[in-house]
Amino acid sequence: MSKQRSKDEQLKCDFSTANGRLKKIILFDLVKKLNLDICYRCNNKICSFDELSVDHKLDWLHSDDPITLFYDLNNIAFSHLDCNVKSRKYKKGVNNHPRKRHLNVRTKSGYKGVHVDSRMNKPYFFKITMSKDGKTKVFRTGGFATPEEAARGYDEQAVLLFGEKAVTNLVLGLI
Ligand SMILES: [Zn+2]
Repeated sequence: MSKQRSKDEQLKCDFSTANGRLKKIILFDLVKKLNLDICYRCNNKICSFDELSVDHKLDWLHSDDPITLFYDLNNIAFSHLDCNVKSRKYKKGVNNHPRKRHLNVRTKSGYKGVHVDSRMNKPYFFKITMSKDGKTKVFRTGGFATPEEAARGYDEQAVLLFGEKAVTNLVLGLI
């Protein structure tokens, strides 16, 4: 068995996902210790690591100087993942956004990444295909009673995998 597979198996999770999760746990621990665990967008407390997101106060994407804005620590704030994602969804001019092309990838279920396996009791599952270093990985999680639940699962996993760039059902306005 390859080293990579052993890691995945022993962690019961894809190793890169586990690594991302660990970094987030460490970050959240530091954020708490420094009393920075207040959401930049809604001013409420951020209570757990999976709610935490690293937020850019000024959107770097499609700005005049994306590289500077992306790395500028003064432009970084912490927020709830939900608050961060919503802020992008309601941003003016979102319909002119190049991400709009992703609307075409909506599946028959009406949601991005959500499929149905009618043989199952809870038939909805989501699937994310990711290619990295020339290898393709498929993340598939099932057991959802409704397509909307599966869409939320998809979004969570997509944000873990792709961070800010994730094109989620929420961003697309599908949920
Ligand atoms: Zn918030």
